[in-house]
Amino acid sequence: MKPYRIGVLTSGGDAPGMNAAIRAVVRQSLDLGVDVYGIYRGFQGLVDQDWRPLSSRNCANILQRGGTILNTARCHAFKVKSVRAQAARDLKEAGIDSLVVIGGDGSFTGAHLLGEEHGIPCAGIPGTIDNDLPGTERTLGFDTALNTAIGAIDKIRDTASSHERLFLVEVMGRSSGMIAVHTAIACGAEAVLYPESHVDSYAALVTQLKAGWERGKRSSIVVVAEGDQAGNPYEVGERLRNEYNLDLRVVVLGHIQRGGSPTAIDRIWGSLWGSEAVKRLVAGEKGFYLGAQANELVSIPLSRIHDARPEPPLALTKLVPTLAL
Ligand code: ADP
Repeated sequence: MKPYRIGVLTSGGDAPGMNAAIRAVVRQSLDLGVDVYGIYRGFQGLVDQDWRPLSSRNCANILQRGGTILNTARCHAFKVKSVRAQAARDLKEAGIDSLVVIGGDGSFTGAHLLGEEHGIPCAGIPGTIDNDLPGTERTLGFDTALNTAIGAIDKIRDTASSHERLFLVEVMGRSSGMIAVHTAIACGAEAVLYPESHVDSYAALVTQLKAGWERGKRSSIVVVAEGDQAGNPYEVGERLRNEYNLDLRVVVLGHIQRGGSPTAIDRIWGSLWGSEAVKRLVAGEKGFYLGAQANELVSIPLSRIHDARPEPPLALTKLVPTLAL
């Protein structure tokens, strides 16, 4: 009888910790006597049938590396039903019984459709630095990205206080303020601008900065999420410069937040989720993604991927101005 065969792919934006998850998928599979195929460049590799068997040796020395050894890509063709139908036929022909998809909400949507339309059992592992998936408190890469942003802003703080300057620092998060708000707390930022904010963020920023100036603050750090409603930090900076004649600088942290060696948390959860995804698929579970709630591993139906996204905790957003006193 043909051995059970699992395919694993990484899709969407890369995130530190993806390699830990791949390694765990491969080694847990081998431990259970299951074949495992690596599918390269996300759903694009599925469409192109770009897959090959992975051995334990393929996963040596990858646990500590950022990025993904399977590469990742954005594959718009996968949004087309007939393309998914062909991919499902190709998977069946190659004897690949089920899939582990490591990625964010777009990737999970693709996995969900593949399961619903063609019965391919899929397991999702949250891999996105944004930490914006419903039903889970964690995603791979978030903790590492946060620590990278914190390390950079600590350095900026040194020069900000030496020159008595205001710095606007852009962190990643086109539609999520998770990185921005957590970074702001961890760096003692004077203010944070983020997409889900329900107030006029520019007005709130000015109020906050003025309160600081009145108390004698000479330097400030403002964390700005990419998708902030007040505009990008250059626009916000220009407005502040014109209205208050400030000596300010803008720093965009950019892609350094995606790279780097994963933190302990991202390695541990990548390992746990990778192993658990395989065990559950082999046991017959399908159409789920893994997550964490109250620090416990949970399984969530893929159909829930369209639920409301988590927002930055109010307790943290309210704390930023309080702690900047
Ligand atoms: P992420 O998974 O990090 O959210 P994307 O949103 O770019 O990243 O999605 C990754 C990939 O998932 C896309 O390139 C595409 O192949 C697939 N995908 C995204 N949305 C859909 C969709 N609505 N239907 C089918 N596949 C999708």
